[in-house]
Amino acid sequence: MEIITTVSRMKEYVRGAKGRGETICLVPTMGYLHEGHLDLMRMGRPLADRLVISIFVNPTQFGAGEDLDKYPRDLPRDTALAQSTGVECIFHPDALEMYPVGYQTYINVEEITDGLCGASRPGHFRGVTTVVAKLFNIVEPDVSVFGEKDYQQLAVIRKMVEDLNMAVQVLAHPTVREEGGLAMSSRNKYLSPEERESALVLNRSLKRAAGRVKGGERSAGVIRSEVVAAIEATPGCRIDYVEIVHPDTLKPLETIESKAVMALAVRVGKTRLIDNMTLGV
Ligand code: AMP
Repeated sequence: MEIITTVSRMKEYVRGAKGRGETICLVPTMGYLHEGHLDLMRMGRPLADRLVISIFVNPTQFGAGEDLDKYPRDLPRDTALAQSTGVECIFHPDALEMYPVGYQTYINVEEITDGLCGASRPGHFRGVTTVVAKLFNIVEPDVSVFGEKDYQQLAVIRKMVEDLNMAVQVLAHPTVREEGGLAMSSRNKYLSPEERESALVLNRSLKRAAGRVKGGERSAGVIRSEVVAAIEATPGCRIDYVEIVHPDTLKPLETIESKAVMALAVRVGKTRLIDNMTLGV
């Protein structure tokens, strides 16, 4: 397996692969890999001749006062884990390699980034779409796999790919959870044992919401209030947002007529966690 740190070497690698008629799958990550990431890689492995992942803690998607500096990093461990899933190449540039002095081009997907994490983390998706567009230009993947755990991110990337006529197929992998239901995340490392216990309320209340819809409740407001109450009653939890939205437009819904997505972001202690679930009718 090769670890590549420069754009020029990565492009050379891609030219070699394409020259041999090989296809490429890219799984972008910020590293500190967990089973969720590894499942994306396992899904990507049979989809192309070459499986490339990126490990890059992208500074442009972090706001002031967010956890950019303390975001967990462990390249040796990540390398071993990635290798075990059949990854052939890790693209691991540093921030200056991706954003050299004088860098000034950004991609902005509009409406779909207005709500949810777009509202609570201004500028976040501008950073995400910019870095993903750059990764697509550098690695030229035929297919790229993203997790449904970051539901809005997936929708935003799909919109960017559609709107900018990018030649990459974007595939989604369902959210991978720990035994108690907590969605796996590199940020779970920040949680104390008590906070980890409290964090279970996210998945528990999403499941209860899905059950309420199955049982016939159609009012988004009623279901939302129940979830808000459950989270507010949990020690250490502070709600960023709890929303029921249309699965494609991500616009808030009043009535659940067909499929809807409940998405939430909650601070557990100092750690901001997100989760979501489809509420099917
Ligand atoms: P990150 O390293 O957090 O930027 O995540 C890299 C990719 O892994 C993104 O496409 C995420 O949506 C995906 N991902 C992260 N955690 C999970 C999870 N628990 N289940 C499924 N996909 C995930």
